[in-house]
Amino acid sequence: MEPDYIALVKETEICKNCKNIVVGKGNLNADILFVGEAPGKNEDEQGVPFVGMAGKNLDKLLEKVGLSFENIYIANILKCRPPENRDPLPEEIKAHTPWLIQQIKEIKPKVICSLGNYATKFFLSEGDVDKMDKQPGITLLHGKVRFVEIGGIKIKLIPLFHPAAIIYKRDLIPLWEKDIEVVKKEIKENQAKLF
Ligand code: URA
Repeated sequence: MEPDYIALVKETEICKNCKNIVVGKGNLNADILFVGEAPGKNEDEQGVPFVGMAGKNLDKLLEKVGLSFENIYIANILKCRPPENRDPLPEEIKAHTPWLIQQIKEIKPKVICSLGNYATKFFLSEGDVDKMDKQPGITLLHGKVRFVEIGGIKIKLIPLFHPAAIIYKRDLIPLWEKDIEVVKKEIKENQAKLF
């Protein structure tokens, strides 16, 4: 029988109208989990996250800081593309995030990097979607380490600017690079504690 978290996604209208469910890509044993917003047109067509413009920009940003999909796993808040790339609706976030929480349980990342406002607000409200509106935005929070708990899992969260935002705002690149250094430092400290 299909797990509940998959059935919940399949019941949503956006899932009935999309071409592919986009689960994630990268290394399932990675220390870093990136979480974006929702698949766009290219992602929907290929069934893979971050393969369009934002994805190409993310590839470049990762390469510059010495990371690749060997070091990270990436998934989205929504598993299906909303029509015309509109913003995710609260009911969709409620129905799609149990799958994300299941992914977090399986991957057990040391750090989660939320990309942009939607993912950041979801984690900051500790999965209580009705509280997302009240959370501060990415401009205030990027690069700052936070501890949150979702679905009984303790998470070390570091919000990052969304790679799509960086396409048009090139002045965010140095900030993104600085924030990634915070992520790397957190992982190194975590390793030092283990060994
Ligand atoms: N933007 C996202 O947030 N996710 C994708 O998969 C693609 C673009």
